[in-house]
Amino acid sequence: MTDKTSAVRVLDKGFVRLVDMMGGDRGVLDAARVCYASRTKGEAPDRKLICYLLKHSHLTPFEHAVFKFHVAAPIFVARQWFRHRFAAYNEISFRYTEVKDEFYVPKAWRAQDAVNKQGSAANAGLDHAGLSAKLSDQVRAALAAYREMLAAGVAREMARLVLPVNLYTQFYWTVNCRSLMNFVSLRADEHAQWEMQQYALALAGFFRRLMPWTWDAFMVHAWKGANPRLEAPDQP
Ligand SMILES: Cc1cc2nc3c(=O)[nH]c(=O)nc-3n(C[C@H](O)[C@H](O)[C@H](O)COP(=O)(O)OP(=O)(O)OC[C@H]3O[C@@H](n4cnc5c(N)ncnc54)[C@H](O)[C@@H]3O)c2cc1C
Repeated sequence: MTDKTSAVRVLDKGFVRLVDMMGGDRGVLDAARVCYASRTKGEAPDRKLICYLLKHSHLTPFEHAVFKFHVAAPIFVARQWFRHRFAAYNEISFRYTEVKDEFYVPKAWRAQDAVNKQGSAANAGLDHAGLSAKLSDQVRAALAAYREMLAAGVAREMARLVLPVNLYTQFYWTVNCRSLMNFVSLRADEHAQWEMQQYALALAGFFRRLMPWTWDAFMVHAWKGANPRLEAPDQP
């Protein structure tokens, strides 16, 4: 999937869609070579230069490769995402528009991790179908209350107070490759929340396809996380 407009589905109703990009591997190399007043010298030396830059934390050339994504994600994922300050964001306004009946329902529920206080672990003993049904009932009740408030004349900015954090939001995210590498390192790692990981893996897929030389160097010199899906040769 190398088409610039490609979208990848994430979770049950989310997506990551590449809107635009600038620079790529060549943008990084051109920015680096301007420092040394030198020109491209073919694939092998160019790849070597990218490795050198990452290995020695000479990271500003990676700011010249930029991606613009359109994302649909649950609010609780977006809240973690927006902590990443080196990017530009524009999000749908629920003061301006009405919320749609689109909410995330996990198929598999996880138990609290016994060791990592922030973490979770797979648990076959949980009543997955029952928990999903309970969540759906709760959200539908909240959405019904929301619509009743709107019908009664309550402002959208106030009616939304009854809504849960698994509702989907949408935003544009413009990020340079330096910041994207930081994002993938932190959020594709197995310690990140599973739902957040799925988005980071989707982003990593775009990164890998569109900047293959930088991706290869990133995996060797800068990726410090752990995730078998990312490290497999033909994934994500
Ligand atoms: C597994 C996990 C658990 C987390 N748990 C929590 C939590 O419990 N509570 C919580 O509040 N957050 C939590 N976070 C969020 C985390 O603290 C960061 O806010 C988030 O990951 C963004 O990372 P960042 O600052 O590197 O990214 P960016 O904001 O994009 O910044 C990129 C880089 O720029 C530099 N930089 C940015 N701003 C400054 C600054 N003001 N001063 C100096 N250098 C700067 C840093 O080098 C930084 O790495 C968690 C993150 C992860 C991955």
